Amino acid sequence: MLKSRVAIVTGSTSGIGLGIAHELAKLRTDIVLNGFGDPGEIEAIRSGIEREHDVRVVYNGADMSKGDAVRRLIATTVETFGRLDILVNNAGIQFTAPVDEFPPAKWHAILDINLSAAFHGVAAAVPQMKKQRWGRIINIASTHGLVASTHKAAYVAAKHGLIGLTKVVGLETAGSGVTCNAVCPGWVRTPLVEKQIGDMATQKKISHQDAAKALLGEKQPSSEFVSPEQLGGTVAFLCSPAADQITGTALAVDGGWTAQ
Ligand code: NAD
Repeated sequence: MLKSRVAIVTGSTSGIGLGIAHELAKLRTDIVLNGFGDPGEIEAIRSGIEREHDVRVVYNGADMSKGDAVRRLIATTVETFGRLDILVNNAGIQFTAPVDEFPPAKWHAILDINLSAAFHGVAAAVPQMKKQRWGRIINIASTHGLVASTHKAAYVAAKHGLIGLTKVVGLETAGSGVTCNAVCPGWVRTPLVEKQIGDMATQKKISHQDAAKALLGEKQPSSEFVSPEQLGGTVAFLCSPAADQITGTALAVDGGWTAQ
């Protein structure tokens, strides 16, 4: 379906981004991986996807907290592949604390990586996508782009902002062959959430397994985690012809969290 398309997935050395990269590669999309980690492990991921799906995969370690590095990631991809079809703005970090104790440096880091990186990426990618008359921009927001929780001031602000950005870009690109949508996952069991499970286990003096259950019980009516593969499937759907007229939306994949 997406043969010969080229996709950048930011933050794809782990968790949801890695799941999305796998699902797009399955559809024969060439992939630009991005994110931090051990160089040997990243190379194993890169060559593994390339071998398994017979697509071209390159790694670019651009730091998403730096706007000029994000813009260079887009430019380098276009230079390398001659095109850019799909941009998945996925890289993200989390930090939790009450607002009056929230360290300003953490606030800035979360806003830079979870929101401003998407702005820089979109700004650099849209002209190329418009020229091609086809493009898909998918911003991985969160249920926290739609509703709030305590102790997540920066994250909730960034994710709500990301959905706002999605709507503006959806309008500005409407009718050009380019769409821009947000995906809003509920709990997904990745390293980002594992830390929150660990914190809860310590705080409540319960096992990791009970903490994971408690986390789900608090918010996610299905009582099941969303998987990175399911989110990869959602991204693939948004890249399919069935989604040609879907733009500027925020699609919840959250086991019923935001239906409450
Ligand atoms: P993760 O920690 O498993 O992966 C984060 C990825 O981002 C990693 O590849 C990491 O190296 C990369 N990254 C972090 N800082 C970076 C930087 N400055 N430059 C480049 N790459 C950087 O987390 P995840 O759970 O897979 O989260 C991915 C996205 O999904 C995030 O935007 C997160 O907010 C969102 N999300 C996660 C959940 C969840 O329950 N896990 C729910 C909703 C939304």
